[in-house]
Amino acid sequence: MIQTSKTGWVCSGKCKMEKRIFDFYSSLEIPDKPTAYDYLILSLRKKDWIFTFNWDSLLIQAYARCYRLTNDLPELVFLHGNVNVAYCERCNKPQRMDFGRCCDCGGELIQTPLLYPVRNKDYTSSEYIRKAWEVLTLTLDEASVLTIFGYSAPKSDAAAVELMKKAFANRTRWYNQFEVIDIAPRETVYTSWSDFITAVHEHITVHRTIFDGTLLSEFPRRSIEGYLKRNFKGWWGESGVQLCECQTFDELRELLKPLLENEADGDYSVISSNQR
Ligand SMILES: [Zn+2]
Repeated sequence: MIQTSKTGWVCSGKCKMEKRIFDFYSSLEIPDKPTAYDYLILSLRKKDWIFTFNWDSLLIQAYARCYRLTNDLPELVFLHGNVNVAYCERCNKPQRMDFGRCCDCGGELIQTPLLYPVRNKDYTSSEYIRKAWEVLTLTLDEASVLTIFGYSAPKSDAAAVELMKKAFANRTRWYNQFEVIDIAPRETVYTSWSDFITAVHEHITVHRTIFDGTLLSEFPRRSIEGYLKRNFKGWWGESGVQLCECQTFDELRELLKPLLENEADGDYSVISSNQR
């Protein structure tokens, strides 16, 4: 486990290796152009959740710049810890490690540990990680649409996948949807996620990229609204705002502008192509 203190690293033996891993993942910087992380974050809202196994802080860096477009963004939860996520025990609150001290009480922050890809991971020694898994379980149980993005459920995560299965595949979900974004062959995806697919009564779609017909790209910031409109209200129209690859944030902001303007008026309905 990695630990830091105000004075720096408390390190000996294998901890030096851990520090190198930590330094490497801390050094990664997101490119200036919008990335898959930006599209993912901006396609969702505060009612949505992103659970990630990433150690690097790219998702947090993307969140910070997406926040300039809107503060209605999804919650981020780091199931295996993250180099830039810390926890204030006094306030019971996660926050960015690079803030230095707790934003609320000014107290010392505790760095989340990074959980390594071994079969028996310790999901309970860190309060942040313990709560992260608790929230994942509750959220999966209540989820209407579950999207798996670039996660192949490796053998080293067997316990985690089992827990996710218990939370999501614990009953038949007649009206729920399961989406997978993965470049792996379709057969591999079906094998990896067979229990989840059974649970949603074969309501599964597989996509190679986020732009490849996912609910997120067809109905950015309106995924559930679009899903309900299409599947339960018999709507066969076309979404008027769809995600596409943008070269700059100005372009992306322009693309999402009609949705963000409606949100400012409390309007979260789908914009159809004939309204534009
Ligand atoms: Zn605090």
